[in-house]
Amino acid sequence: MSEQFDLVIIGTGAGGGTLAYALRNSGLRILLVERGDFLPQEPQNWQPVEVFDRRRYKPDETWYGADGKPFHPGVHYFVGGNTKVYGAALPRFRVQDFGAVEHEGGTSPAWPVTYDELEPYYARAEEIYAVHGASGEDPTEPPRSGPFPFPAVPHEPYIDDLSVRLRNQGLHPFHYPMGIDLRAGGRCIRCKTCDGFPCQVLAKSESDVNCVRPAMESQNITLWTNTLAHRLLTDSTGKRVVGVELERGGEKLTVHADRFVVACGAVNSALLLLRSANDKHPNGLANSSGLVGRNYMVHNNTALMAVDPFRRNPTVFQKTMAVNDFYFRGPDFAYPMGNIQLLGKLQAGMLTAAQPLVPRPILQGMADRSVDWWVMSEDLPDPNNRIELRSDGKVIVHWTPNNLVAHRKLVEAARQMMRAAGYQFVFVQPMGIETNSHQCGTARFGTDPATSVLDPTCRTHDVENLWVVDSSFFPSSAAMNPALTIAAQALRVAERIGG
Ligand SMILES: Cc1cc2nc3c(=O)[nH]c(=O)nc-3n(C[C@H](O)[C@H](O)[C@H](O)COP(=O)(O)OP(=O)(O)OC[C@H]3O[C@@H](n4cnc5c(N)ncnc54)[C@H](O)[C@@H]3O)c2cc1C
Repeated sequence: MSEQFDLVIIGTGAGGGTLAYALRNSGLRILLVERGDFLPQEPQNWQPVEVFDRRRYKPDETWYGADGKPFHPGVHYFVGGNTKVYGAALPRFRVQDFGAVEHEGGTSPAWPVTYDELEPYYARAEEIYAVHGASGEDPTEPPRSGPFPFPAVPHEPYIDDLSVRLRNQGLHPFHYPMGIDLRAGGRCIRCKTCDGFPCQVLAKSESDVNCVRPAMESQNITLWTNTLAHRLLTDSTGKRVVGVELERGGEKLTVHADRFVVACGAVNSALLLLRSANDKHPNGLANSSGLVGRNYMVHNNTALMAVDPFRRNPTVFQKTMAVNDFYFRGPDFAYPMGNIQLLGKLQAGMLTAAQPLVPRPILQGMADRSVDWWVMSEDLPDPNNRIELRSDGKVIVHWTPNNLVAHRKLVEAARQMMRAAGYQFVFVQPMGIETNSHQCGTARFGTDPATSVLDPTCRTHDVENLWVVDSSFFPSSAAMNPALTIAAQALRVAERIGG
């Protein structure tokens, strides 16, 4: 069986979904290929035990560390990809993140585009993803061509009080930009099961809801779910991709097109390129630089629970605030440290997976009295941190975290901040190899084919009709959540592909 399209986009997450949306009226006949299905709207969407203990929405897939230890990766194979469960925090990167930045652990490289070049696309991405935010609160915020599409998600009273306590320390807590449907008549009920959960009422600004479904209204877009892209095929010169081998409903088929976009997420995109090795591309498709799968980054992440045993935290929708005062430097540290953002309210059922030995009533008591943060620092590209595909199909993730001094400093600063805000107990949980939610870097973009896989428009240097449009293109991870930047670049690339 064989089919012909103008463009095939493989993957429907933040990158692929946004690209499809941007090209829906381009006149191109587009096939969207997605290995997963639509995520069902069901009561289990909001059940912590189902989502966290039973991993209901994660694939039954095992990857391995370089030490051979197996782990279950934080990936989600559905229409919308990882945005189906994401926290919907949609900040822009800072201006400085696009330049070379000296860190304690090394240099974070410059991007081949500036903030100013990406700004119009950030603005458009914020519209598409209905971002709510407030300007003028965060001293690190980049300039904007216009206001946020929607006003900030208001803090609940307990968080408002915490914000005052932080401001009294001279800090600048700010309303974090969030993509949820709080418009007049909007679907969001501001529940406690947002960050890390699928949204049962489809009120989160996800690639599925905000991009793929509207894109499907165009006659030109065809979506094939439950369809795995196995291999890309080139012509005899190796300069053009001519087809993609797919597995659909137990059948194998090849689809032909003029142009191809890989948007499978940073690890799976690298795997697809590596699996597509042929005579002309012996080390993997578009891999003359040897960098496909390398420079894997995920951020250095720590969850922090600050507990005041004498005060309950009644907040339901907690993810509304962040602190960037340590983003560029700390009080006693001349290097960037990172971002501290509230998590969705932790519940006992979310903690049992990480703390199986602690009795549930104790976890419940803590969760009732805690305020919960995600402490996130930039990690640096290291070619030795890489995705390896073994000949037996095993996926090995070589990952040695770096720039850790900065992260430890940030965790300590967050701890001090919460102690000074009146929290007697602060518990921290560093995240391990399975927390790869912010995976990126495995096909970095740049101007030099020797040191990058993609050009500044995300087209591969080696193959003229092949693009990679997902978090793989990041040359550095910054210390902000990635999805809005992935979406903005997808909009920018759409102009090149569709123009
Ligand atoms: C729990 C969690 C919370 C998060 N919170 C935030 C947040 O608050 N803010 C933020 O900015 N980011 C957040 N993220 C990260 C964000 O979701 C990702 O950065 C973003 O979704 C990445 O987009 P992508 O297009 O690179 O990949 P993905 O969104 O992962 O999409 C890849 C798609 O490709 C499909 N696919 C993979 N391989 C194949 C194949 N071989 N054939 C066909 N299809 C394939 C997958 O099924 C998937 O649909 C979070 C992630 C997680 C897991």
